[in-house]
Amino acid sequence: MNNQHALSFEPDSRLVADLVASPNRGSRNRGLRPSLLILHYTGMASAAKAIDWLARPESKVSCHYVIDVDGRITQMVREIDRAWHAGVSYWAGECDINSASIGIEIQNPGHADGYHAFPRSQMRAVRDLAGDIAGRHTIAPEHILAHSDVAPLRKIDPGEKFDWRWLAHEGVGHWVPPVPVRAADAALEGATASNAARAMLTAYGYGVGIAGASGPEFATVIAAFQRHFRPARVDGVLDHSTLATLEHLLNALARGVVLQ
Ligand SMILES: [Zn+2]
Repeated sequence: MNNQHALSFEPDSRLVADLVASPNRGSRNRGLRPSLLILHYTGMASAAKAIDWLARPESKVSCHYVIDVDGRITQMVREIDRAWHAGVSYWAGECDINSASIGIEIQNPGHADGYHAFPRSQMRAVRDLAGDIAGRHTIAPEHILAHSDVAPLRKIDPGEKFDWRWLAHEGVGHWVPPVPVRAADAALEGATASNAARAMLTAYGYGVGIAGASGPEFATVIAAFQRHFRPARVDGVLDHSTLATLEHLLNALARGVVLQ
């Protein structure tokens, strides 16, 4: 870093209540502009603790925004700058997700410490801020993603209790009703199903190539897809519901692309 963030940099959104500058930032590489919006949970006991940590140089992590449980929004890095929230990650050919994205940390203690549903007051703030950012940067609905989507082998946030369905109904993100899980659904065996899943996950943007077509890593990518798009059962098993939901999702996206 060659200079300190001004203590009172101008917020990028009128929705921002507080500014707490983080030194953990830089310039976006290759002149990239934000085309992805990545949603996280903090995995900490409180938003105050998360903000304190994200503002410390030794943490080497940051994000653009933190949203508390009551919906209060803190900005920590200017949108023009590259925040350090995604780590090693991939989406649709892009490996430098931090340079290509804006990151929002949503307060929730996370799976290791009492993971709970996200309160509606908090979800409204997510909706408002995500909609505001997507509108100003022309971020496509299908580019509003979970950290677990872009780093499926390392991350599970914001997790299966994050209400992507509600968010999509409110006009934010890309989502289709999942094909219901039936009690009799079993794993789809054979290369045909796994190859179809692999091709469709790749077409949607997931980094399946690095995970291989079978084995535990492929199951982890399947689980990441389920966590976002079929949260009723997150088990990493490629079943009919998962494959059909993926197909519907891709079909919905293709129609959207054709209409442009
Ligand atoms: Zn995260």
